[in-house]
Amino acid sequence: MDANRKLVVGWLYGATMNIYGDRGNVLAIEQRARWRGIDVEVRQIGLGEPIPDDIDIFFWGGGQDQEQVAVSRDIQGEKGDRLKAAIENGAAMLAICGGYQLLGHEYRPHDAEPLPGIGVFDAVSVAGPERFIGNVVIDSPEFGTLVGFENHSGLTELHGDASPLGKVVVGRGNNGKDGTEGAMYRNAIGCYLHGALLPKNPRVTDWLIKAGLNRRYGMADLETIDDSIEESAHRSAIDRAKATR
Ligand code: GLN
Repeated sequence: MDANRKLVVGWLYGATMNIYGDRGNVLAIEQRARWRGIDVEVRQIGLGEPIPDDIDIFFWGGGQDQEQVAVSRDIQGEKGDRLKAAIENGAAMLAICGGYQLLGHEYRPHDAEPLPGIGVFDAVSVAGPERFIGNVVIDSPEFGTLVGFENHSGLTELHGDASPLGKVVVGRGNNGKDGTEGAMYRNAIGCYLHGALLPKNPRVTDWLIKAGLNRRYGMADLETIDDSIEESAHRSAIDRAKATR
């Protein structure tokens, strides 16, 4: 295995949208790559800053409605087009909650103007009367069981051939009605799972790292490492979620 591999992680709006431990997702990607001898560079991409063309993995955290107003305005036009093009060309993406909503067509907060998104996911989110707060467990065809924490008022409807990340086992998910949670498109994952998601769900982290390696090197060999601690954290989080539902 080539020892001089590197990955560039583009952290979107880290100073504006970063709640409920979302930062832990960037740390998990960094650490699991480094355990395989892969060098990782994390680039902050904030308000008014362009999307570089050498990003392998993007991360976009959650945020309250008021933070999403400035971000929604900032991601329109050429910046949003460059992000969509990067995803079309195989860049990996993990977007949580508020970030997930703005990767759809729009998010309509309570008593405020609709916030346009960029339409990577064929989805629309509308703030509902009730805030969904609590542990979440889902069954994902791609990753098996996933566990996390949700805290959102947005209800997301997937349209057309948008495929969900999984089916809700515990919690409310996309909209508390159709039993779906999250969305997937190419190497982009969007979901309502805070926590942070990745430390307790290492299969998703490795999937993002492989997608990033594939984008940069056209191959995605990733050696297996000991996940006993992650797997026990995963199991105990699921047990706790099921016990508190
Ligand atoms: N502000 C959005 C909502 O309430 C997203 C919240 C979040 O990112 N946790 O649905």
